[in-house]
Amino acid sequence: MKLDDKILLPDSGYFKANLHCHTTISDGELTPEEIKSAYKAQGYSIVAFTDHERYRWHKELDDENFLALAAFETECCDFNTAPNCWPDQKTYHLNLFDTDPTQNQAEKAKSPRPLRRYGDVPALNEYIAEMSQLGFLVCYNHPYWSLQDYNDYAHLRGLFAMEIYNHGCEHDGLYGFHPQAYDEMMRAGQRLFALSTDDNHDRVPFGDPLNDSFGGFVQIAAEKLEYASVIEALRAGRFYWSMGPQLQGVRVEGGVLKVKTSPVEKIFVIQRGRDCYKKLAPAGSTITEAQFPLTGKEGWFRIEIRDSRGLYAGTNAYYLEDF
Ligand SMILES: [Zn+2]
Ligand SMILES: [Zn+2]
Repeated sequence: MKLDDKILLPDSGYFKANLHCHTTISDGELTPEEIKSAYKAQGYSIVAFTDHERYRWHKELDDENFLALAAFETECCDFNTAPNCWPDQKTYHLNLFDTDPTQNQAEKAKSPRPLRRYGDVPALNEYIAEMSQLGFLVCYNHPYWSLQDYNDYAHLRGLFAMEIYNHGCEHDGLYGFHPQAYDEMMRAGQRLFALSTDDNHDRVPFGDPLNDSFGGFVQIAAEKLEYASVIEALRAGRFYWSMGPQLQGVRVEGGVLKVKTSPVEKIFVIQRGRDCYKKLAPAGSTITEAQFPLTGKEGWFRIEIRDSRGLYAGTNAYYLEDF
């Protein structure tokens, strides 16, 4: 199989983004203005404001170094298994990112919710399709926190992405990192991207080890810090997810996958099947690059790296049929 040369991720030119954030508009502790100044101080350029059931476009926060994405988070709870939402009830949480807040404003302002029929996956897929039609990119959030398993997420369709890491859920003790769910969704026939997010509510102050800001982010290779440009990069999958480590260039050249990273202990290439390419640093040292010849039988592959603090980062899945 001949693979065309392709730059999957550039060496540099990224905008750091938190795509899951709660403010005083719903159940977060900080105002949108406070979020902006705290995230800017930590080197972020983009925040998607995903308050619960409250679509908002905080255009007033935009400046030449900061972009607010219009968004909201919605839910669909299982009222059959538990009468109350907390703590035993299964639920779907979805983030909806607006691709163009100048369009369909009246409809979006209603923050449309899915029908409350948990378990009716076709109805939920219909909602995802309708919201995509309205102009949203739909992301499936924190499966483990939601007490969900393969049966709940395998047959979702039309998603833009799922959360591979949710920092708030990690603090909740509910395994914020769930790469298995991402792989399972793709092996079940979905094709979607992976996000790492904060899902911050900031109920404890910055600096406290249990503060839920600044732990999960994406680096977006947009041409410009402008709404349309950032959305175009998101749609094209020109971004990577991270808890800390950096990817500093990923390309296929002459049939060889070439990866450059910040110093890490391991570089893995996970695939559709159970083969996995890997390069590990000798104990006590780190590596910053790896090269793997591709056979053409990988189906899809994604890179996952881990640094000496145990923090992960990785790419979206790339499909060989696209080369
Ligand atoms: Zn949620
Ligand atoms: Zn949330």
